[in-house]
Amino acid sequence: MARRGPELQFELLAVDGSEGARRSRFTSAHGVVECPAFMPVGTQGSVKSALPRDVAETGADVILANTYHMSLDDRTDLVERAGGLHSFMAWDRTILTDSGGFQVFSLPGKEVTEDGVSFPQGKGKPRLFLDPEASMDIQRRLGADIVMAFDECAPWDADQHSVKDSLERTARWARRCRKTPLSTHQALFGIVQGGVHKELRERGAAQMRELDFPGYAIGGVSVGEGFERMTRVVKWTAPLLPDDRPRYLMGVGLPEDILAAVELGMDMFDCVIPTRYARGGTLFTRKGKLRIGDKKHRHEAEPIESKCGCYACKSFSRMALRHLHYAHEPLFEMLATIHNLRFYGDLMADCRREIERGRFGEWKAAWLRRYGAGTGA
Ligand SMILES: [Zn+2]
Repeated sequence: MARRGPELQFELLAVDGSEGARRSRFTSAHGVVECPAFMPVGTQGSVKSALPRDVAETGADVILANTYHMSLDDRTDLVERAGGLHSFMAWDRTILTDSGGFQVFSLPGKEVTEDGVSFPQGKGKPRLFLDPEASMDIQRRLGADIVMAFDECAPWDADQHSVKDSLERTARWARRCRKTPLSTHQALFGIVQGGVHKELRERGAAQMRELDFPGYAIGGVSVGEGFERMTRVVKWTAPLLPDDRPRYLMGVGLPEDILAAVELGMDMFDCVIPTRYARGGTLFTRKGKLRIGDKKHRHEAEPIESKCGCYACKSFSRMALRHLHYAHEPLFEMLATIHNLRFYGDLMADCRREIERGRFGEWKAAWLRRYGAGTGA
């Protein structure tokens, strides 16, 4: 199944299991993205503590940048003057920008109207205003390959009535986004909201499908609702999205969350967890998470993980890394970040291979047993 649009070419290569885990691939103006895919987060135009070439080496085909952070002050002008985000970030593969909505809606003092959202910028500065047209305009100027619709993300535990209001507003805003011109290479993804309510998720999916986006996201998850509710939302929503477009689960997450969502048919993921945990000294291994600061690693000459092919594991022992961590050496953050991103990159490559082989379910169960039983030692 292939669909050629002006923006993205999507191919569904294999489907595995009763829920429909998908092996797919799409091509943006900046190359091929093999799915399921994990997108490292470069909030401020940089994946923290990692060189772009090292991020590419971890297997990442696409990274994410945040519209909110890249639009403050005169940053959009700077990016535009540099020739767009790809050259600004020294990243020649695919880039996705979020709409800025998620950050704005988490700010205290925001005011939401039908037009858009106004929010305080900080002491002595005028309030800023963001609406669907402004978000599209900023994202057009930033120049990412994938652009997200401006949506409202209601708190997951808000009452159903207000989640419904917010869902309807999100649909009206999505229509306004769809009408706002982007550059020809940019693909706009619609976002399905609807909180933890089945009928609202169904309505959200139908509203977004009507607008015929080149890709679809499930938003409003990974906001404190927990694993059970998150997987329920994905189980309801994923089957309602078109088979022939990419499906992106926003802000998820831990390896176990990603595996569950891959099994339910999601293709793309982003999260700050691998990079944030790395900087704090938490490293992922196939036998669970490892805290490099723990005393038991003090005399360990082995790498973080002997099976890992990353530069940190090829070159450094746990005891050296532990020393760098406690010495607050910037090198520790760089090495830990490379390792954690490689762990996520390898995890996604394993998912792709096992879906192709038609054994994703068994493989996932075995993977989780080993991961859950261990402490990385
Ligand atoms: Zn490694």
